[in-house]
Amino acid sequence: MNSYSIIVFGAGPSGICAAIHASNCGLSTLLVEPSSVAGGAITLAGVAVPALFNAWGRQVIAGIGWELVKNTLLEMGEKLPDFTVQDTSDHVKNAITINPLIFSAIADEALLNAKVNIAYHTMPATLDWNGSSWDVGLCTKDGLIQVQASVIIDCTGDANATKIAGYQVLSPDYCQPGTFSFHATGFQFDQIDFNDLANDFYTAIQNGTLKLEDVGDNPNWVKSFFWHFFGRQGKNTNHISWINAYSSERKTQMDIEGRASALRLFRFLKGRKGLENLTFNQIAQQTGARETRRIVGETTVTEDDYVSGRVFPDAICYSFYPIDLHDPKCGLIVKPLKPGIVPTVPRGALIPKNSTNFLAAGRIISSDRAANSALRIQATCMATGQAAGAIAALAVKLNQQPREIPIQAIHDSLRKQNAIVPSIP
Ligand SMILES: Cc1cc2nc3c(=O)[nH]c(=O)nc-3n(C[C@H](O)[C@H](O)[C@H](O)COP(=O)(O)OP(=O)(O)OC[C@H]3O[C@@H](n4cnc5c(N)ncnc54)[C@H](O)[C@@H]3O)c2cc1C
Repeated sequence: MNSYSIIVFGAGPSGICAAIHASNCGLSTLLVEPSSVAGGAITLAGVAVPALFNAWGRQVIAGIGWELVKNTLLEMGEKLPDFTVQDTSDHVKNAITINPLIFSAIADEALLNAKVNIAYHTMPATLDWNGSSWDVGLCTKDGLIQVQASVIIDCTGDANATKIAGYQVLSPDYCQPGTFSFHATGFQFDQIDFNDLANDFYTAIQNGTLKLEDVGDNPNWVKSFFWHFFGRQGKNTNHISWINAYSSERKTQMDIEGRASALRLFRFLKGRKGLENLTFNQIAQQTGARETRRIVGETTVTEDDYVSGRVFPDAICYSFYPIDLHDPKCGLIVKPLKPGIVPTVPRGALIPKNSTNFLAAGRIISSDRAANSALRIQATCMATGQAAGAIAALAVKLNQQPREIPIQAIHDSLRKQNAIVPSIP
C-alpha cells in the first residue's frame, strides 16, 4: 500500500498551492483530482480571472499562486499588473485575465517540479482515521485502491473530503447561483435590435421556451441583459439557481441545467438580425458553482470580521475583495471594503471542529455567507491553500496537531516560499 505524508483532494487554485508548498517542504504529497486538469474553476468553469492579489497600492497575496499567474502572463508575453496602482472605483477591475490552458500546463509543470504525485481521474471513496494515520480509499478507473496519509487537506470546493471523514459541514439549501460560461461569437453588435430582444423575451418566458435564469434571474435586468450578454460575449451571464451542487447527483443536475440554459438562449437568438452567424463556443466543462458547502471550523470568519479588517491572532494570510453576493432573490449585493481595510484569514477557519490531522482550504473555509462571498475569490483560495500546505507539513514534521503549531513557525514556512503573511500585533 502506498503511504504519503499528505494527501490533497482537489487541484483547484487552493489545492495546487497546498500540494506544491507541502511537497517543497520535503514531504511526500499526493494530489487527487477527479477531472483531467489542474485549475478548478479557472479551467473547468471558464473563470480565468484570478482576483485579487493587491489592495490599496500594494501586493497583499504573493507566493505560489501569484508565481503561477505571473508565469502564465509572462509565457503569453503579457504585461504584469502594476500593484501600486489601484482602481478604487471598482475593485473587480483589478482582477487579472489569464489564459486557462497555459495556466493549467504551467500548474502541471510546477507540480511536477515540486515532485508532487499527481492522480487525475481519481477521487476519495473512504477516509478513516486509524489512530495514527488516515486509511484512504481512492476510486480510480481500475477500481478502488487503498493508500495511507498522515494529514489530509480538503480543497474540493464542496467539502467532500471533510464530509466523508465524518466532520461537520454547513450545507445551505439556499445558495448563490451557478453559471455556465460560454463564448458567443459571430454576431454584429450594431445590427442587433435590443428592444425587440427584450420584448420577445417576456413572451418566450410566458410560453416556456426561455427561463428567467437564462438571463441571470432578475426580471429587471432583461432590458439591459442583452447589451451585457453581447458586451461580455456570453461569458459569466446566466444564473443556474436553486441547486446546491455539492454531490455527484446535484452536480449532474446543475451541469445539465447549465447546458440546457445555453441551448434555450441559442435557439432564441440564432437567426435574428445581426445574429445570423451566431455561435456559442465552449470555454467551460462544468457549470461553475459559487457556493455549495463549507466546513464548520474552529473559527468562523463573519461579515463583521471581514469588513472591519480584523487581524486574527492566528492570521495566516490576507484576503481582498468586496462582499459579492449573487442572490437569486435580491440580485447582486456588492459592498466594497472601506479605504485601507485588508481582511485576514485565521488558521482556525481551515481546521474542521474536532478534527485530527485534517485541514481545509479554498472556498470551503469556515465563514458566514457574506464573508464567504468575498473569501471564495481565487487569489485568497491560493493563499489559504498554501497556508494549509505549510500547516500540514509542520504537523507531520513536529508531530503536532494543526491547531497546536506555533503561528511563527507557519509564517516562517510561508515566507520561505514567498508568501505574504499578516503582521500580528
Ligand atoms: C461563475 C463564477 C464566476 C467567478 N468569478 C470569479 C472571478 O472573476 N475571479 C475570481 O477570483 N474568482 C471567481 N470565482 C470564484 C472562484 O473561481 C472559486 O471560488 C475558486 O475557484 C475556488 O477555489 P477552490 O480551490 O476552493 O475550488 P475549485 O476551484 O472549485 O476547485 C476544486 C477542485 O476540486 C475538485 N474536486 C471536486 N470534488 C472533488 C472530490 N470529491 N475529490 C477530489 N477533488 C474534487 C474539482 O474537480 C476542482 O478541480 C467565480 C466562481 C464562479 C462559479
